Parts: sequence; structure tokens; C-alpha cells
Amino acid sequence: MTKALLGCIADDFTGATDLANNLVRTGFRVVQTIGIPDGPLDAEADAVVVSLKSRTIPAADAVAQSLAALAWLQRQGAGQIYFKYCSTFDSTAQGNIGPVTDALMDALGTDFTIACPAFPENARTIFKGYLFVGDELLHESGMRNHPLTPMLDSNLVRVLQAQTQRRVGLIDYRTVAQGATAITQRIATLKAAGVSMAVIDAVSNDDLRSMGPALAKLPLLTAGSGVAIGLKPAQGEAALGDAASLPPAQGLRAIVSGSCSTATNGQVAAFIASGGAAFAVNPMQLAQGVDVAANALAFSQEYLANSPANSPVLVYATAEPEAVRAVQAELGVERAGQLVEQALATVARGLVQQGVRQLIVAGGETSGACVQALDIKRLRIGPQIAPGVPWCHAPSPHAPVQGLHLALKSGNFGAPDFFTTAFDVVA
Ligand code: ADP
Repeated sequence: MTKALLGCIADDFTGATDLANNLVRTGFRVVQTIGIPDGPLDAEADAVVVSLKSRTIPAADAVAQSLAALAWLQRQGAGQIYFKYCSTFDSTAQGNIGPVTDALMDALGTDFTIACPAFPENARTIFKGYLFVGDELLHESGMRNHPLTPMLDSNLVRVLQAQTQRRVGLIDYRTVAQGATAITQRIATLKAAGVSMAVIDAVSNDDLRSMGPALAKLPLLTAGSGVAIGLKPAQGEAALGDAASLPPAQGLRAIVSGSCSTATNGQVAAFIASGGAAFAVNPMQLAQGVDVAANALAFSQEYLANSPANSPVLVYATAEPEAVRAVQAELGVERAGQLVEQALATVARGLVQQGVRQLIVAGGETSGACVQALDIKRLRIGPQIAPGVPWCHAPSPHAPVQGLHLALKSGNFGAPDFFTTAFDVVA
């Protein structure tokens, strides 16, 4: 086993495939695992991405899971650790980005790391420590209405400082523009001033590439998926074609959407407007004990049996912020989230039983729930549909023989026609 493995810990499932996708496109051979494997890594890889579902769980649980992932990665020979979170820095008031970073720093015995959720290809940029989503500051974007992690402050130094006892500083765009040597010097200056974590500006892929060499020696990186494009596999780059080929896609097609992000709302609306078959999951009915999943599956069975040209069926809980707030006021944030996730996971498993072998899941938490329900342990990363979203292939006991093609879409990613065009990429 190589000592130069990049060991990645992702705090949600769509984020993990997003990172794996960027690593593959940078020339890493990547294995993505769902949760922490029981046994040793049994494939050649330059990077392993362990997918957790730790973004919104209690901080102590997120810390424990992340430390367990770290221990497994170290046993596989990981030389550098990459803690991956969302490009919109999704965190609750209690964390989990700060507490997990603290715990990983303690375990690795390191006194400095960076924080950089920037992903310029998806219009997530950081300027003077402020995170922009497109042309809007984070707290003015749709993220202010996120069901689980509403982001109400765009200043990442402040957001992170509220989650850690360590001192948080900034490496700003002027330093980044001067390149790796200037960044290395700035890190030394910050450390001398007692700073242990620094948010680092990036407004373009060039910024991410120029910081790469300065980050190579840090035992721990904390970032979105963007920072990956500045890193280099220790063994040299793999042939790109090899990294991204999947078996041919077959079987029926479906979409399960539990994301309430602005982009997903647009994608659901566009899918319905284009004449797509869609079943809406009503959280209040779930709370009343109605078997909504069974109703959704009856709808999909009827549609898929007669589906013209293998058109996909959509089952969605996606709703506009006002509707989500009303449901949460009635049921509580956590219960609403769990009820919907559980129902959609049951639907995902039922769809696969109905013969679906090409499945898009929208939403990070939702993807976590669906992948767990399908007993998927490992994903192979294939061609990119949109920045941050690749098609993947996974063996699943629920889809014996040919396995399952899966696209796990983070809520905020993809163009409005994502649900209608994504299947063409593996057709
Ligand atoms: P994203 O990637 O957009 O953040 P997630 O799946 O991570 O999406 O998070 C969305 C959360 O909102 C999930 O917990 C989901 O169960 C919940 N949810 C989905 N639809 C509704 C709804 N109509 N009302 C309340 N909560 C919902």
C-alpha cells in the first residue's frame, strides 16, 4: 500500500462524489466508500474518499465518526487528510465544521490548517473571507432558507471562529495572487501570531491551482471540492479516460428529490413543465401516518410500465422556502427532515425493485439516506454531468448482476434542465 494516499473525509454523500469527481479530473485514481469500510482498501488508488453523513448530526457524533474515518484512512497509508464540506460552508450553529476540524488537528498533531469552500466552476468564490454564491453574498443567497443549515453570515472567518476555540485568520486574495511562496510565508506569519486555521480566498481555478503547492505539506486540509484541482497525485497522473469509464447504463430511470435548494426547485419545475411524470411527497401526510412511499411507488410502477422512450419518473419532496418553513413549524426541523428522508429512501429502494437502474438523487442528506437504504458500500466515479456531479456506478444487493448507475446531486448544483438531460450522459 502506498504511503502517499490522499485520505478524504466527506461530511455528506453528494459532497463526496463531488470531491471524487474533481480528483478524477485532476488525474487521481479514486475510490469512494460509503461509510467506513469494515476491511482494508482492496483497490489501487491515489485517493480514497470516505463518505459520511455527518453534516447536521450532533457535533460529538460528527467528531467520533470523522476520527474513526481518520483512523481507517491512516491504516490504509494516508499521508495527507482532506476534510471535505459543502461549497456553501453548510453548518449548524453548533458546527460541525469547527469541532471536526479541531478533532482532526488534535489527532494529527498539527497546528495549522486552511478552510476554503471555494468552487469557482460552480460560482462559489471567496473574497476577503466573504463567500459569494454567484453574484450574491452567501447570506443573501437561497442558502439563508436552507431547511437544516440556514447560512446567515457570509464572513467565513466569523462563522468558523464561532465554532472553534482556535484562532481563525485569513489568507486574502492579494497573497493568493502572488502564488505558493507568498502563501507559505503568510502561513508562517499567521502561525507566529497564534492563528491555527485560515480561510483562504479564491475567485478562480487559477487561485486554486496556485495554492496547491503551498498546501502539499499540510497534514490536514479542510475545503470544498475545489481545492482538489490544485493537488497532485504522488504517483503521477492517471490517464483520464481510464478514471471515468463506467459499464453501459441499462434499465428504467427515476429521480428522487429531497433537496429544497433554489437550483433543485428550478429543476423540479422545469421537469414538470416539460411534461415529466412527477409525484409530490407531502410531509404533513407522512406525519399523519399515511403510507406516502407506497402511494409514490404505485404511481411510479404504473408510469414506468408504460413509460414512452424510457422517460424517467420523479418523486419529490422539494418545496419552496415558505412551504418548508410551514412544515417545520408544525413538525420541527429534525422530524420533518427525517420523515422525508426516510420516505424517499423507501421510495428509492422500491424504485430499484421495480427495475430502475439509473437513479438520480437530489440533495445531500437525501442521497445519504437513499444510498444507505440501497446498501451501497462503494461507488466508481464516471463521466461528469455538471460541475460537481458525476454519474457513478455501484454494486447493490438490490440490483444484482449489473448494479446501479447513480447520480448524487448536491442541492445547489446543475442547470435547470439537469433532470431532463442528465440521462443522455450515460445513454
Ligand atoms: P440539499 O443538498 O439541497 O441541502 P438535503 O437533502 O441535504 O438537500 O437537505 C434537504 C432536507 O430538507 C432533507 O432533510 C429533507 O428531508 C428535507 N425536506 C425535503 N423536503 C421537505 C419539505 N417539503 N418540508 C420540510 N423538509 C423537507
